[in-house]
Amino acid sequence: MNIAHIEEQSYIYGAGCRFVIWTQGCSIRCKDCWNKEMWSFKTKNKISTKKLFEKIINEKEHIQGITILGGEPFDQYEELLFFVKQIKKTDLSIIIYTGYSINELKSKNKTEILNLIDIIITDRYDKNYRTENGGLIGSSNQKIKFLTKKYTKNDLPKNNAIEISINENGQINMYGYPNE
Ligand code: SF4
Repeated sequence: MNIAHIEEQSYIYGAGCRFVIWTQGCSIRCKDCWNKEMWSFKTKNKISTKKLFEKIINEKEHIQGITILGGEPFDQYEELLFFVKQIKKTDLSIIIYTGYSINELKSKNKTEILNLIDIIITDRYDKNYRTENGGLIGSSNQKIKFLTKKYTKNDLPKNNAIEISINENGQINMYGYPNE
C-alpha cells in the first residue's frame, strides 16, 4: 500500500490505544481538507500488507485495534480489503475513515469491507459544519457508523483532541483536530 504515515501508538483516533495508518493519495479533494499533502498518488512509502501486518503484531500487546485514515483509504480498495481480512483474523478492532458516503461506496461496489470492520466514519470534511466537540469527526455532516457491537459512542473520545509525538530522530509531529 502507499502509506503517508504511521503512528504505532495513538489515543485520539478511536477507542483506547491504536495503531494508526494514514494512506497516501486522495481523489476526493475536499476544498477545506487539512491533509492536502496526502492527496498525491505519487509513491510516498510503499509498504506491503505483509510488512504492515508484522508491524501491527509487534505492537499487539499495547494496542486495542487499528485505525486507517488518509488520504483516502478506499482509493486503495483492493489492498485495503486484503489487509483488513488479515487483521480480522486477530482480536484487534478496526476503524476506517473515508470521505465517501455509504451510498458512494455502494455505487463503487466497495462495501464488502463493511462486514469486517467495527466502525466507519464517512463523508466529506466541510468547513461550514466544523465542530470541535465531535470526537472523531471534524465537521458535523460526517457520520460515525457502528458496524458491530464491539463499541458504543461512550467508548469514543467526546471532544476533538490533538496529539504530539516525538519520533526516534527527535522530530516532533502533531496530529488530530487543532483549531484554526
Ligand atoms: S477525503 Fe479526507 S483526505 Fe480526502 S480531501 Fe477530503 S478531508 Fe482531505
